[in-house]
Amino acid sequence: MSEGSPRSPVVMKFGGSSLATPERVRVVAERIARRHRQGDAVVAVVSAQGDTTDELLARLHELAPDPPAREVDMLLATGEQQSAALVAATLGTFGVSAVSLTGWQAGIVTDPSHRRARIHGIAPERIRRLLAAGHVVVVAGFQGLNDLGDVTTLGRGGSDLTAVALAASLGGTCEIYSDVDGVYTADPRIVPDAHRLETISYDEMMELAALGAQVLQARAVEHAWQHGVEVQARSTFADGPGTKVLAGTGTERIQPVTGTALDRSVARILCERVPDRPGIAAQIFDALAEGPINVDVIVQSPSHEGRTDIAFTVSEEDALPAEEIARAAVARLGGGHVSRDADVAKVSLVGAGMVSRPGVASRVFRTLADEGVNIIAISTSEIKISCLVRREDGQRSLQAVHRAFGLGEGQEEQAE
Ligand code: ASP
Ligand code: MG
Repeated sequence: MSEGSPRSPVVMKFGGSSLATPERVRVVAERIARRHRQGDAVVAVVSAQGDTTDELLARLHELAPDPPAREVDMLLATGEQQSAALVAATLGTFGVSAVSLTGWQAGIVTDPSHRRARIHGIAPERIRRLLAAGHVVVVAGFQGLNDLGDVTTLGRGGSDLTAVALAASLGGTCEIYSDVDGVYTADPRIVPDAHRLETISYDEMMELAALGAQVLQARAVEHAWQHGVEVQARSTFADGPGTKVLAGTGTERIQPVTGTALDRSVARILCERVPDRPGIAAQIFDALAEGPINVDVIVQSPSHEGRTDIAFTVSEEDALPAEEIARAAVARLGGGHVSRDADVAKVSLVGAGMVSRPGVASRVFRTLADEGVNIIAISTSEIKISCLVRREDGQRSLQAVHRAFGLGEGQEEQAE
């Protein structure tokens, strides 16, 4: 890069647990300051401290069990705003000039919807001016402003999306800092010999994030993929390369499976004895989509005397509304009983290498059978296999498939 031309900025995003205490805020500020002193133009994006978002929600629900979404957003956005001011002020004590901005001061415009708003556009001029003047800019994550001038939030974990969107708009790179040092082949708390991935492709990362890996928000990965933003997942508390999310991984995968995930916050809704006519599934799932409820693994059993059972999974937080919506739809169709089963877990394997290798699914099923685990339902895509199992079998199932596909530390050579 030629002398005098501005370097492309780096967006450093820090998660809530990295900011949970004053000591941690200092560590974060220290990291930002170091980067700034190295000559980088730094935009920091911060989440609400610790469990602030959940605490704010609890306080609200105590007073208003079913609060208007607008007021939820008004309240939740304050969590990130506090973090931004705290980090900027702490940077000042280190002799670094920093300015905090809310989402709207940072120019983030969203669609009109609340709680899961989509970013429509960013006007980054103010950030650019502040960076050019040598300031660090600290942006409150997870929030924007809609065309009505109302505060909106971007969905749980939405600060990742703020960071990626800012990086896209500023032409910079994005580093997501948390208390884990990257993306692992499995959650190391469940599978102790899981290992950190040097790289992972956007599509694999999107699947893993959607399947319960908590390092990065799926929507943020999708946005990064669409806009070609380089994303790196790193630890706030350790130096190290972390994991790079890239378009493709450079080399062809030696192994069919890149990573695994266990999601224990799922529930299964069973609709019994639904009339088996064309358009029935469409009516049930249209009603759910309007919810809006994301439906995952769907199984329809063979019909019997003109009736069929339809089962599907949803996230646990959507389970109650999903059951109610399905019950109303099934009743309209003259179907039978609708029930909800929260005693399930979803074990998933993700890998771009699956496309070119047959037999991955059968190996998963064989592995679970050898463990004596019963599979309740299965769903697959080109790069993913998910099995629904009883919740008590979830942990054991994850450990078994992780081992079976040679993903353990030092186990790499014996794969295939
Ligand atoms: N504070 C919000 C949440 O807990 C957003 C975020 O952390 O990214 O979901
Ligand atoms: Mg949070």
